[in-house]
Parts: sequence; structure tokens; C-alpha cells
Amino acid sequence: MISRVVKETDIKDLRRYLERSKNIVITCHVSPDGDAIGSSLAFMHVLTSIGKTVNVITPDLPPRNLSFLPGARSILPFTRYAETGTGLFNKADLIICLDFNDIKRVDKMADTLSASPAPKVLIDHHLNPGDFADLTISHPEMSSTCILLFRILCRLELYGKINRKAAECIYTGMMTDTGNFTYNSNDPDLYVVISELIKKGINKDRLYQSICNTYSANRIRLNGYAVYQKMQLFPEHQAAMITLTKDDLKEFDYEKGDTESLVNVPLSIPDITYSIFFRDDGDYIKVSARSKGEFAVNRICEKYFNGGGHKNAAGGEFSGTLEEAVSLFLSILDENDNYLPGKQIKDK
Ligand code: 5GP
Ligand code: MN
Repeated sequence: MISRVVKETDIKDLRRYLERSKNIVITCHVSPDGDAIGSSLAFMHVLTSIGKTVNVITPDLPPRNLSFLPGARSILPFTRYAETGTGLFNKADLIICLDFNDIKRVDKMADTLSASPAPKVLIDHHLNPGDFADLTISHPEMSSTCILLFRILCRLELYGKINRKAAECIYTGMMTDTGNFTYNSNDPDLYVVISELIKKGINKDRLYQSICNTYSANRIRLNGYAVYQKMQLFPEHQAAMITLTKDDLKEFDYEKGDTESLVNVPLSIPDITYSIFFRDDGDYIKVSARSKGEFAVNRICEKYFNGGGHKNAAGGEFSGTLEEAVSLFLSILDENDNYLPGKQIKDK
């Protein structure tokens, strides 16, 4: 048995929303990751099996390495199908928002989502959820939206409707949001759920192979280049920084998702506590940050890079040049020192 975390009133309210609806749209955050896609598709499979019509609309294209997931081909990326997507949002009688805490996280789809008359349910594990939904089930202590969804499905008495396909999607989010069970992964319940998912027929070894070991030669070369040529270490600050310019991306035929776990690489150096990655995406500088232990990178992303996220994994978008982003980061190294393990906090 796993512990009970979701409030009974939330379950009751969610049950009522589901009972009253037939046409459901499920959506998640822009640049969807394994947890966003996994939770969306898993919920789609379960709701379809109880007779609902379900469409999954993502703000932009899902990453290619997740296209093997059951149901992934039915996903409608809004950037590609804005008109159809808008129609579906408008005629939905329920919108389920998964794995994001703020309407801004759906990017250019925000206005359409807000304008839809359908009630909105948010199920998420990010800190500080906004109040755009009619029902918010927010559990930042959960390592992934997928494990939160598993708990919710059990409480809705839909455990029996989790088939192998849904189980594969749930496992994907649990795995990717914990770095393959290497962080936020000491909760014993995680392993009880994995055991249940294996009983549903998933092959966890094969899922790992499909999600993590499907890299193109360009991706491997780009990551190798980034680490060799573009990684800077600041050992006195326990910090690391990697930058990639537009030209770098062009040279290696960059595709979305190609730098997915690059920011984690410097953290394997024992003396590095946090790592930041700046990628020039043209419209803005995409910022990704990761850390170990108590050092909170969401503070840095919120304060300086127009973003947020979790303590050990955060990101943002910087509107300026790559050089400006780098100078800003260099200028806050001293301030960040105050938050390093064993350092006294002077500036909050
Ligand atoms: P990634 O570095 O993989 O893009 O993002 C890591 C985490 O940081 C995400 O799961 C999300 O919680 C958060 N994050 C990334 N980009 C943004 C952003 O632009 N705004 C906010 N608020 N959070 C972000
Ligand atoms: Mn997540």
C-alpha cells in the first residue's frame, strides 16, 4: 500500500468534473518532457477506456525520443494545428492541465486556453501554482506529475483501467523527472508504484533504452563539443556554465531535445554544486539550471532569468544576448556563494 497524499475533497471534486464531461482536452507545458507527455497520454488512455473522447494538445512539438510512446501519434501540437486545437479547446467540456503551474508555461496557447469556457483542472507538482484552474491538485512534494496521477487514478478507483499502455506512459514520467531515479528518488512509494507498473506489463529496461539510448550522431557530437569546448568551471564558486551559440547549434544540425541532459554533466564533478546552461534559441536565451542537495537553482532562475522550477532543476528564458546572460551569471557568482553548503546566508 502506498501512502495517501491527495485530499479526499480534491478526489471528490475531480470525480464530479469527470462524471459531468464527455469531451476532454488534456494539455501540458511547452517543450514537453517525459513527465508532461507521459502524464497526458496515460490519463488519455484511462479516460478513453471509460468512454470519454479525449484529445491531447501540446503547446509545441513533443520531443522525438518520446514518439514511440503509445498514443503519441495522436497528439496535436498547437504550433502546427492552431485552428483545430482552438476548436477542440472551445468545444471541450473539461480541460485537464498537467505538469505546469502557470498559464504562461503553455506559451502562445495561453490565450486560447484561458478563453475556453470549459472548466479547468490542474494536476501538478511544481511550486506555487497559479489560480487559473477551477480545481487545483498541487503536490510539489511529489517527484513527478506521473506518480501523482497514478495516486489519483487509484483513488478514483481507476487502477483497473491502467493498462500496459498507460503504465508505460506513467513510468516514463516517473523515470525522466527523477533523472532515471538518481534524484528526488528516495521515496519508498516510488518503488511500490514501479512494482505495480511492472505487474501491468511494462518492460522498464526497454523503456530506458527507447527514451535514453536513441541519440543521433549529431546529438552525441554536439554534446561532446559542448562539454569539451564550451564548459567553464568556477571551482571556487562550486559552479559550472555551458553556453551554445546559434552557430554552434547550426553546425551540429541541432534538433529540439538534443541538449536535454547536457546541463547535468558538470554535476558529476564532486566539487560542482550547481550548473547553468545557456542556449541561444534566437527569440531568447533558453536557460537550464541543475544543482545538488540544498542549493536552490529555482531562486536564481526566478530572480534573474524570468523562470522558475524546482530546487534542483529549474529553467527560464532570458531576453537579451548570450553575452548579456553570461555576464549576468558571472556577476551573481559571489551572491550565490552565500547559498553554498556550509556558507552563511547573507542575502535572501
Ligand atoms: P529544463 O531545464 O529541463 O528546461 O527545465 C527544468 C525545470 O525548470 C522544468 O521542469 C520546469 O519546472 C522549470 N522551467 C524550465 N523553463 C522554465 C521557464 O521558462 N519558466 C518557469 N517558470 N519554469 C521553467
Ligand atoms: Mn514534471
